[in-house]
Order: sequence, then structure tokens, then C-alpha cells
Amino acid sequence: MKLNDPTLFQTRAYIDGAWVDGDDNATFAVTNPADGEALAQVAALGVAETRRAIEAAEATLPAWRAQTAKARSAILRRWFDLIMQNQEDLALILSLEQGKPLPESRGEIAYGASFIEWFAEEAKRAYGDVIPSTAADKRLVTIKQPIGVVAAITPWNFPNAMITRKVGPALAAGCTVVVKPAAETPLSALALAVLAERAGVPKGVYNVVTGNRASEIGGELTRHPAVRKLSFTGSTRIGKLLMEQCAGTVKKLGLELGGNAPFIVFDDADLDAAVQGALASKFRNTGQTCVCANRLLVQDGVYDAFAEKLAAAVRQMQVGAATSGNVQQGPLINDKAVAKVAEHVADAVSKGAQVITGGEPHPLGGNFYQPTVLADVTEDMLVAREETFGPLAPLFRFKDEAEAIRLANATEFGLAAYFYSRDIGRIWRVAEAIEAGMVGINEGIISTEVAPFGGIKESGLGREGSKYGLDDFMEIKYLCFGGL
Ligand code: ADP
Repeated sequence: MKLNDPTLFQTRAYIDGAWVDGDDNATFAVTNPADGEALAQVAALGVAETRRAIEAAEATLPAWRAQTAKARSAILRRWFDLIMQNQEDLALILSLEQGKPLPESRGEIAYGASFIEWFAEEAKRAYGDVIPSTAADKRLVTIKQPIGVVAAITPWNFPNAMITRKVGPALAAGCTVVVKPAAETPLSALALAVLAERAGVPKGVYNVVTGNRASEIGGELTRHPAVRKLSFTGSTRIGKLLMEQCAGTVKKLGLELGGNAPFIVFDDADLDAAVQGALASKFRNTGQTCVCANRLLVQDGVYDAFAEKLAAAVRQMQVGAATSGNVQQGPLINDKAVAKVAEHVADAVSKGAQVITGGEPHPLGGNFYQPTVLADVTEDMLVAREETFGPLAPLFRFKDEAEAIRLANATEFGLAAYFYSRDIGRIWRVAEAIEAGMVGINEGIISTEVAPFGGIKESGLGREGSKYGLDDFMEIKYLCFGGL
């Protein structure tokens, strides 16, 4: 790996401003999903080290929250600048441990940094209220205060941005943080720590606990009474487990869980735009994002034309290692992920679906799977209910608007949804009827730091980014002034 700044490549955990090994010096391998080669041996921490990280965050909390919002803002702004100055190195580290093509990694670094920039600005706007009083001799006021120590547990699909989206608002609010990155992708989290330190983030404010024994680290993060909020992005199964574990100490929860996004193409859609949107939404990060279109619902009248156009575009996509030039599709994260795509394809085909393109592991082997389009997909197939998290676009057919809405909402999830139509009445009706936290209308890419990201139903709790994102890391305190 050729980095301009090799010091960004760290393999030890970062606690209280120090680079540390696990107590037993254990390590775990981080591998490149494109070829399975080991990139690094990273410190594997456990319960005791996690507790020390929490205690460091607790110890430094009073000083950090006592800083003015403006002072915290300036530090965050420096962190943002440093991340962007090191975009190329950070993108390379990210691509190597995660597999996404380099242009996508550069995009993630910029997207990730945007949360630090945004919350550097929002830090200064944590306003309270003056409430008109119900009594002549009283004055009622609210102030917002940081919630305290925050635990952040993050996934491998966005090794940079899922951290900054949590840590940006947390630090802006005056909280301190212990991050547990995914075992697949700890290097991006550690590189961020190098730059945080350089930006002037005081020791103990941003801690990174690396490890491959997630339940031990997660157990301590959810058990420890000093942790007042858990912010988690990952699977619904683990999200529910962590929610249970947090009950014992009644922690505030931010959960970004799984999705099963519908992508609806109505008869009146601009088909070319819909194809572009579907490609962007379905195949970004090789289908491994929680807002990826999972079910493409296409109206009768345009079904065949859309299927043909989409398949033609999918056939053009280049598959390969992140760093091997002009590729749009990288490997999946591991063999389990490949097996899940294969299972969804086999199940659908066994129940009558047609493979229009793809449908097999890619000749490159390993974790590569062909970008795939399936037609004649029906509600009884696994892909209707489960998130594939891979490069599989299943096309369902529907007759009218009511059926589209029924199909779209026939899931316990409610994260993102997309639809293409040019009828303004339909656009409002569908946008309001669809059960999702975020809706792309004639648009396949919706994420931005300025808009609220989050789900309803079993897709999660809370919103990240936007003017609402800071509130999730603050408590409102009500002050009643009497005897005036
Ligand atoms: P995925 O299946 O996409 O890897 P997970 O929900 O398993 O999603 O992982 C998301 C994050 O949750 C990762 O950082 C992972 O290490 C962590 N994690 C997994 N199991 C647990 C657990 N029992 N306690 C705490 N964290 C966990």
C-alpha cells in the first residue's frame, strides 16, 4: 500500500490519546476482500480495555462539554480539513479493507467529512427556548446539554462515513465517544483517529476500540452506566439485541438498521432516468448499502422495456478489484455475502424467476458475483422479504398504484423507498402513502449531510445528519424560574 502519509496506517487501538494493544496482545487479521490477502494484524481488545476506553471518555467529558461550542466547532473544522487533505490516502485504505472501487471510496471520504463540517457549523446552533409562562411570577426556559458518553458501533459497508455521521454530532454537542468499528474495516476508523489527534481533539474524546469479539465489547458498551447513548448502524438482528442490552441502564438509542427498499417504476416514468436511478441505487457499493433498492416494482405497461434497458446497462458494468482501474463493481465483503446472493437467486429461480443477466458467481472467483437482473419475481420468494445486500436486481410486476403501494409497504422495514413518475398528483399520493423514513422521487441517490437519514418500523430509531441530527446527542433540560 503506497500512502503519501504512512502514519495514517495504524493497527493498534486508540484509547485516551494513546495507541494500545489488547491486554493479552491478541490480534486479528484484516483482509482485502478482493483477494483475501492480509492487510494488517490489528489489536483485538476485550471487556477490560473497553471499560478503560469508557472511563477515559467519562473522565474527559466535563472538560470537553465545558468548552464553548465555538471552540469545539473550530476543532471539528480542522478535522474536516485534514480529512479532505488526506482524501486520497483515506480512500485507498478504505478500498483495500472494504473493496469498493476507488472513486466510490473518494466519494465516501468526502461524504464522511461533510458530517464533520456540517456539525462543526451546527455545534453553534444548539438553541434552547423561552416558553411563554402560565404564571406571572414564573419564567420557563429550556437549555440543551450533551447527553454524555456515547458508544458508536459501526458496520463495514461505510467504514468512514458511518463513524463521522455519529462522531460529528456527538463531539459537536459536547459528548465524548467510544467507537467500535466493524472487525472487517477497523483501519479507516484508526486513520480518522490520527487526524482527530492532529486536529486537536483532546485525549479521551474520540476512542477507537478494535476487536473481533464484538459481543464482549458490545456487552461492556451496553452495560456500563456511564454510556448514556448507543448509536448503532448494522443489522436488525444485532440492533434488537443491543436494544435489549441497553434496557438495563436505559440508554438513549440511535439505530440505523436493515432496509428492504422498494424502487417503483410507474407507467408514466421517464424510463431512462429510472434505469439510471436503479443502477445508482441498486448497485452502489456492489449492492451493500442499507438504502439500496432491494425490490424493483415495475408497472405492467413498461415492465419489458424497463427490464431490457436495465439489463443492457448492467451488462456494461465492469467488475474487479477496487484498485484495478475502471471498475464499477467491487467484490462482496466476504463469502457469506456471496452465499446470500446465490441463495436468493437460487430460491427465486426455483420458484419461476427468469435470469435476464448474471445469476452466477463472477469468473474472477472469490468474493465476486455477477451483477444480476431477475424478471418475473413474486412475493413468495426470499428476496421479497429479506435484504439481499448484493448486486441482485429483482423485478416484480404490478398493475396499478394501489398494488404498488401495497407491495412497497409489505415489509417490516421502512428505511428508504424510491419511485419514478411524472404525474404530480401520483407523486404526492405515493410519497405520503409509502412507509419509509426517506423517499427518493425520480432520484436514486438521496444521502446528504444536510437531510435527515433514518428509518421507521423495524429499520430504526432517530435521525442522523441535518439540523435534527444534533438533538439525538443532547438532552433538553427545562428550567422553571419562580418567585419573580
Ligand atoms: P453485518 O451482518 O452487516 O456485519 P452486524 O449487525 O453484524 O452487521 O454488524 C454491525 C456492527 O455490529 C459491527 O461493528 C459488528 O462487529 C457489531 N456487532 C455484531 N455483533 C455484535 C454484538 N453481539 N454486540 C455488539 N456489536 C456487535
